Amino acid sequence: MKRIDKNTALKMYKEEPFLTLGKKADDLRKELHPENIVTFIIDRNINYTNVCINKCSFCAFYKEADDPLAYLLSTKEILDKIRETIKLNGTAILIQGGLHPDLNIDYYVDLLKTIKSEFDINIHGFSPPEITHIAKMAGLTIKDTIRKLIDAGLGSIPGGGAEVLSDRIREAVSPKKIKTKEWLKVMAEAHEAGLKTTATMMFGCGESEHDIIEHLDAIRTQQDKTHGFTAFIPWSFQPENTELGSRNLHDSNFQLATGVDYLRMLALSRLYLDNIKNIQASWVTQGIKMAQVALRFGANDLGSTMIEENVVKAAGVSYKVSQDDLINAGRAAGFTVMQRDTFYNRLRTFN
Ligand code: SF4
Repeated sequence: MKRIDKNTALKMYKEEPFLTLGKKADDLRKELHPENIVTFIIDRNINYTNVCINKCSFCAFYKEADDPLAYLLSTKEILDKIRETIKLNGTAILIQGGLHPDLNIDYYVDLLKTIKSEFDINIHGFSPPEITHIAKMAGLTIKDTIRKLIDAGLGSIPGGGAEVLSDRIREAVSPKKIKTKEWLKVMAEAHEAGLKTTATMMFGCGESEHDIIEHLDAIRTQQDKTHGFTAFIPWSFQPENTELGSRNLHDSNFQLATGVDYLRMLALSRLYLDNIKNIQASWVTQGIKMAQVALRFGANDLGSTMIEENVVKAAGVSYKVSQDDLINAGRAAGFTVMQRDTFYNRLRTFN
């Protein structure tokens, strides 16, 4: 398929009939994945702390350090969670948390080394805001910080903290968070160092259609240069228990993203990001039925079994999905379903 430019993408996003857009994305998905296989990973999210100095207005997860509900998991608790993940045939952990004001780089290095000394598992950890925070606390460059974390056992980086890569939106919803340039810099340094990462987008927080296209274009441009993104994962803002949600409750101009918005966004991502092979459906925010439909709107992956998830749950959304639910959803949509690892290597088929 010929690469689409920003103007065409904007026109498609605004004007293309819903099913036509979906069909185009599905056709490209078939071209990129002709084997008719849908994948998922078995892993769990380990949120080592909920203490965060950023206080993003869309986040229902963070706590201030002196909040009675603030926590920092002990190393033993983290190791127990990994042991359980491995028992369930898990191949990775997604470890991320708030920007804790008192944890220095030694904490992260020791944690990674301890995990790697006990388990043969991929550590997919620390999104760009955390990496930037760790670097700042240590007085190191992003490059040296990533190098130290890799040497200690970091295997890949999740694409969290991207939200919408527009500094106007970032200033409005998360003024303390790293800006677009810094998010992209962490990803560029990670890719240069040989790490694979994902890329994400949380939309539906007041951005314009133009912002959406700029976000996709920033990711595509980065991928052209460094080729390190394994997948793109879009999802919509979940408003419950968030400052942004209550701020917009009485604003008639503020429209929450609908299921149709989600599918349009997903299809557009598939079409625009022609250099990123995998697009994930987000059952965690949309539910399994919407994720199943997403498999015909450009997605080729059902994400993770998420043995544990805390961040979206804090925003009042708690879909419970078992491994069998994922397998059945993929099969019923007409696909062979396979377990994969973080790097999209296919591990086993479910017959
Ligand atoms: S989204 Fe991340 S950086 Fe923002 S407040 Fe929540 S935990 Fe902190």
